[in-house]
Amino acid sequence: MTTTAAPARPYQHYVYAYPHKTAYRPLPERPALADVWAGEPRDALSFYAHVPFCEVRCGFCNLFTRVGAPEGLTGRYLDALERQARAVREALGEEAPVRFANAAFGGGTPTFLEAAELTRLCDIAERLMGVDLRAVPFSVEASPATATADRLAVLAERGATRLSLGVQTFVEAEARAAVRPQRRADVEAALGRIRDAALPVLNIDLIYGIEGQTAASWRRSLDAALAWRPEEIYLYPLYVRPLTGLGRQGRAGGTGEAPDADLAWDRERLARYREGRDHLLSLGYEQRSMRMFRRADAPAQGPDDYACQTDGMIGLGCGARSYTSSLHYAFDYAVAMPEVRGIIDAYTATRDFSRAVHGRAVDGDEARRRHLLQSLLQAAGLPVVEYRERFGTTPEEDFPRELAELVERGWLAEEDEGRTLRLTPEGLAHSDAVGPPFFSPAVRAAMADHELR
Ligand code: SF4
Repeated sequence: MTTTAAPARPYQHYVYAYPHKTAYRPLPERPALADVWAGEPRDALSFYAHVPFCEVRCGFCNLFTRVGAPEGLTGRYLDALERQARAVREALGEEAPVRFANAAFGGGTPTFLEAAELTRLCDIAERLMGVDLRAVPFSVEASPATATADRLAVLAERGATRLSLGVQTFVEAEARAAVRPQRRADVEAALGRIRDAALPVLNIDLIYGIEGQTAASWRRSLDAALAWRPEEIYLYPLYVRPLTGLGRQGRAGGTGEAPDADLAWDRERLARYREGRDHLLSLGYEQRSMRMFRRADAPAQGPDDYACQTDGMIGLGCGARSYTSSLHYAFDYAVAMPEVRGIIDAYTATRDFSRAVHGRAVDGDEARRRHLLQSLLQAAGLPVVEYRERFGTTPEEDFPRELAELVERGWLAEEDEGRTLRLTPEGLAHSDAVGPPFFSPAVRAAMADHELR
């Protein structure tokens, strides 16, 4: 099919949550959490705890995290997290049973916390929030240096089902180019300790598009990861974002104006993506999304493997989001180090966690956009009947122009006699260009207005 649509840059925006946090704003009315959660379903909540500490600041990272922690800060952070947990649990009330369907510790690097601190974090989740960590899928992120035997033993004993290791590359020169210096031997040793801990699912994160990376060196990283037979592999395109280490070095970006160097880099990343995808598919991995691949014989993560579109989320910690059906909220957000440190210090000093202070309302229109994005960007696609049952309309009625353009580009097909809208392989490859046209004008404007700091 020929297309009249203008060519689209493939790496525009990684849509891992909609609306993006840069569209959040201070909530002037500071609603009480008890009101925010009144009447919300609470029988299949997600639990997330955010640990905003890392040993180094990787050059590509724009997550909310700081390097290191002065004496006593992690303890004060957990004290605050405990106060927040008590306030949130009280706000959820006792009238309806509260049940968590899954749990995750993310960051930052949760395993920056020492073993005793991880024990305390698990205790907060279990005893204060009521998360049955041993009964639900429970995922934890780690870095090679902090994936120590004592920490892994705590996590295994407390029921962690998935350990996600940020490796990014097994090639030391590429690790240096990504401003994430690490020795291959240390990464291999960490993987050995994780396998010894016998957590059911090992995920390895890899990045393509690093300066100096070639088809051959990318294949070496893939094969080094595959030697551990990870149940999951995430392949991330490198993005160079403002205020990150690589951004400050002035390396080419992925959006906006497109000088030749950017277009060449786009082509390189697409080539590495296709090589990685094809290699994993040939070795028995299934593609779940543009980034996620899962070994076909990997143990299921349980009935909650599938993220329901309407479930609420409770996030604890200063970078965590919480979602109800009509409000997404969090604390302030920053990337630059002084601002991140200031927000963490303010969080640790907070006594009253009973109100939502920063966020964005999600109305019916935004809920449709969110539902569509969360389904369409999965390889399994968007079941039309689910959408219609929830909203009373079809995706084609709500987004005719956007969907027609995807079809015209050859990125979208109707399958199962029109029951599923599914991205084609090229559509999946261009997921980061598929998502942004579905952002509402209001969210787009808020993101553009956001002052990066
Ligand atoms: S990529 Fe991970 S380990 Fe690196 S700075 Fe970001 S959160 Fe920390």
